[in-house]
Amino acid sequence: MTADSTIESGDDLGLAAETTYCGLLEDIESYLEYQRDEGAVRLEVDRAVLEELAKEPEPEAEVEITVDATAIPDDFQTLEAVSAHISTCTNCELCKTRTSTVPGEGCGDGPDIMFVGEGPGAEEDVQGRPFVGKAGQLLTKMIEAMGYERSQLYIANVVKCRPPNNRKPVKEEMELCLPYLRQQIGLIKPKIIVGLGGTAMEGLLGHPVGITRMRGVWQDYEGIKLMPTFHPSYLLRDPSKKKEAWADLKLVLAELGKEPPARK
Ligand code: SF4
Repeated sequence: MTADSTIESGDDLGLAAETTYCGLLEDIESYLEYQRDEGAVRLEVDRAVLEELAKEPEPEAEVEITVDATAIPDDFQTLEAVSAHISTCTNCELCKTRTSTVPGEGCGDGPDIMFVGEGPGAEEDVQGRPFVGKAGQLLTKMIEAMGYERSQLYIANVVKCRPPNNRKPVKEEMELCLPYLRQQIGLIKPKIIVGLGGTAMEGLLGHPVGITRMRGVWQDYEGIKLMPTFHPSYLLRDPSKKKEAWADLKLVLAELGKEPPARK
């Protein structure tokens, strides 16, 4: 690699400035912060890479919704009724490629915490259950480290069908599916919602967010305290971020008047 440019810190790339989209830049920012935290004061980068980064990102491809969206009732009385409606839902393109719908699972009666991710992955699509792949196994460990069993909390996603190739669900898909999540939250009445990753937070809040900056800062979802933190799949890619995710979860426990159990 041609070492013709030097970055002293993330600020030199302008990455500390307002970032309005997630993805590549956020990953790079996290990597630079990690290097800084590890004591790095100098990093050699190819100028061509910097020029690529300086370009405006391509606008997200519009996904044409050709499926007729039908109204989702706004008065489901039970979680089972929500799940039954989801199981036959054809409101967006994701219905065409799914194997199973993944409405969510767990305690539906006022749990301390409801975790919300962005959408099912491959394993979830096969099993029809949320967070059962590798990221799900990490989420389970996080839940247990907090002193809970999965069944004591509720776990769901913003979209209930798997986006092909695990791509990020697009805005239209999230908007079309959100009435289900909104009604699930209304029926479940969790004390606290934890938003897992920037896409889940975007779905919940209705606008793009930078999870690196928002994590650990309480938000509000229709009167319920909402804690943003990293998605477990991101933690699998960058284990150095587990420390920050754990700090976020400890804030959640503190809000509930609890402490993490002593480690065995
Ligand atoms: S993702 Fe949501 S809106 Fe789209 S088909 Fe599945 S359940 Fe319906």
